[in-house]
Amino acid sequence: MNHEPMNPSLIVTHYGENPEEQFGAVVPPIYQNSLNVYPTVDCYLNGGDEQHPYVYMRVSNPTIRLAEQKIAALEKAEDALCFASGMAAISSATLACVKSGDHIVAVRNCYGPQYSFMSSYLARFGVTVTFVAGDQVEDFIEATQDNTTLFYLESPTSINFRLQDLASIAEFAKSRGIFTLIDNSWATPIYQQPITLGIDAVLHSASKYLGGHSDIVAGVLCGSKDFIARVQGQERAMLGGILHPQQAFLLTRGLRTLPIRMKNHQESAMAIARFLESHPKVKAVNYPGLESHPQYELGRKQMSGYSGLMSFELKTEDREQIASFIDRLQWFQIGCSWGGHESLATPPMLNTPQEHLDEIGSSRGLIRISVGHEGAETLIADLDASLDQVRL
Ligand SMILES: *Cc1c(COP(=O)(O)O)cnc(C)c1O
Repeated sequence: MNHEPMNPSLIVTHYGENPEEQFGAVVPPIYQNSLNVYPTVDCYLNGGDEQHPYVYMRVSNPTIRLAEQKIAALEKAEDALCFASGMAAISSATLACVKSGDHIVAVRNCYGPQYSFMSSYLARFGVTVTFVAGDQVEDFIEATQDNTTLFYLESPTSINFRLQDLASIAEFAKSRGIFTLIDNSWATPIYQQPITLGIDAVLHSASKYLGGHSDIVAGVLCGSKDFIARVQGQERAMLGGILHPQQAFLLTRGLRTLPIRMKNHQESAMAIARFLESHPKVKAVNYPGLESHPQYELGRKQMSGYSGLMSFELKTEDREQIASFIDRLQWFQIGCSWGGHESLATPPMLNTPQEHLDEIGSSRGLIRISVGHEGAETLIADLDASLDQVRL
């Protein structure tokens, strides 16, 4: 793959594209064909050649390939693969890193379905996992066993927004031959490029910021040429979780505006985080862009910006007060995903048993918001009006 240095704006606008090859069309077409035919039996027997690299849609496809090339370039990875969902990418990549008898060390507050996949599903195949807070490199070092083959990271985590020190963890992992995987959905390659910090492979739920318009479910895995080729031939081809070309087309369209969308998410989210932090009815705001974040300095070191998802706690644990605070919001709709154009709010811990809250270090009154593109002033006025009616 071509690695000439392009900045993110150029990558999303032009990288991997050649209008001359498509009648001058400024937008690449959707190739929606299950198979590609060969000009000769020899070419067929060789499994294609440079002119005919595509065989069958479950394995690869030019429309999907374009999204993969752009995302790999954004992540400064050698290559990438698109999957039918973030979880298809995550489960396939995880499976590629373990065999029966192996052990994983993972961040405790990682994405819920991946927590279950590692702790319950993989247990059926004799794979064990130790969950750690992950704020300290020592968490990973102390949990490492002789049979540890994978460190699973998510930085920041998407409920309480704690970070892991990617460079230090990667350095230790390398010294022990342990593979490192990170879910980078929150920061996106615009604000964090884990491979440049030594992490082996990067995952995305492209249903969030990469797609950016709440109209697709998709996943991406980025890594070395060898790792990607192996996952393409094994987990993706055998489990069959490739993205559909129509979704890949929408993903590439979403990518066109990724840099400017992230800039707008950051601007609005910073203003909202500062507003919430200074509000007398708010106990705490979890947002790595605030100087008050306990890992602010680490964030500055390994990220170049901050996205639009954060959480905060009201100064009440009263269910009614928390629920009605969210119900009163006009522009924050109630929904569990994030990363789209629309603002969202949820109380992810409202029904969580106390012992589980204690275990993950969270509070019942936690409210998670995804800041969309309605404009900071509008959203702050909305939050302010509803906060006004909260009774402490
Ligand atoms: C949504 C999400 C996923 C899963 O992605 P899907 O596309 O819904 O399968 C993974 N990681 C994080 C952090 C997410 O928020």
